[in-house]
Amino acid sequence: MGRHLMPFVLVAVLCAPVVAGEQLLNLPLDRTAFPVPADIVWPQAVGEPHICLWYGDKFAALSITIDDNWKPDWAWWMQMAETYDFTPTWFTIVGGVDAQSNPGFSGVWSDFVALAASGGSIQSHTMTHNCSDDTRPDADVHWEYSRSQALIDANVPGQRCLTLAYPCGVGRPDIAAQYFIAARGVHGTPNKPGRINWMMTDSSSGRIDADFVNAILYGTSGISWLNSPQWKRAWLCTHYHGVSDEAVQEGHLAYIDSLRHLIWWASFIDVVRFGQQRDSATITMVENSESRIAFDISDRMNDQIFDHPLTIKLRLPDAWEGAATATQGGAATSFTLAAQGDRDYILLDAIPDRGPVEIRPGSADKPGDADRDGDVDLDDFVLLKTSFGTLSGAAWDQGDFDADGDVDLDDFVILKTNFGR
Ligand SMILES: [Zn+2]
Repeated sequence: MGRHLMPFVLVAVLCAPVVAGEQLLNLPLDRTAFPVPADIVWPQAVGEPHICLWYGDKFAALSITIDDNWKPDWAWWMQMAETYDFTPTWFTIVGGVDAQSNPGFSGVWSDFVALAASGGSIQSHTMTHNCSDDTRPDADVHWEYSRSQALIDANVPGQRCLTLAYPCGVGRPDIAAQYFIAARGVHGTPNKPGRINWMMTDSSSGRIDADFVNAILYGTSGISWLNSPQWKRAWLCTHYHGVSDEAVQEGHLAYIDSLRHLIWWASFIDVVRFGQQRDSATITMVENSESRIAFDISDRMNDQIFDHPLTIKLRLPDAWEGAATATQGGAATSFTLAAQGDRDYILLDAIPDRGPVEIRPGSADKPGDADRDGDVDLDDFVLLKTSFGTLSGAAWDQGDFDADGDVDLDDFVILKTNFGR
């Protein structure tokens, strides 16, 4: 009996969160540039992890933001977001919302609660939208940034205000960096992904038409300065104010939607989280053998905030015949399998600083699912419990989930981690 109770006590200790390494709120510009491949990468070497430039190994990225509240447009935007499945980001002037001074245009807090509940991201465009924040006293700018952030967080549950758009593109990045993970300017170019200034990102003014979208996908455009390969693979962020030509804008949205296999269409906050994790990620190989590929992945960012999965691609050993499963920290993680010519690949989700990533050959047995019925429940625990302490020769259906021949605490942790899934 004691032998079976002990693991529960130990697991309570093992599951305590571990915070390790740097815990940055935002990534300084003074850093090594992320190497941007000209095209999608298919690594030749077996088992060598490749960090994809954009989530899902997409070719380029795109975000839509709306500045200055513009409540009259909300119904249309939310209809578009539902039709084309994207997350709009509202950079909100907070002062008027909190004072309820112009509810028909600025909205009131209950409006923003509804907007967030239906899939919008509510972020800060300061309290008063002062276009001279770069020359105002420090204390005033601190107040613009911190007060707007605190009010959004207090009034809009279920999300966090972690990003800022500078009024008129003007502000104090040094002060913004004390409160926000990223901040958006209005310099109208796509963001070249090699070394983005995360505290002053670029944004086109309402331009998501083919001239801009083709630039980030093909390096071609009807606009001469965008008609250049230098914009390929970039992140196109745009900021709207009022929309008066809905049908035209919907045409642009439909064009983007038709290219989704190439474009990661994500909220501002998701791109800036992903981007800073990617830019600061390091991978340490643990094992690269015919039976197991394992590595650790870490980054420099704050683990409480930066928890967007990166996409890791690696070539599988030929002997695995394109069948593999992946876990991180002992729990199942999302992955897809792909073939390129006669080579097999896995693309998997990995969150930096969340434990070792392991890839094993074979079809998808769910970790901890001893009886292979698709869930991890008490039946599986009973199988593991019956064989607990077996030193060698144990099989999956006896609870040897890590395939090392024994049934021990390591196996129990895998079951415990996946219990109820
Ligand atoms: Zn504005």
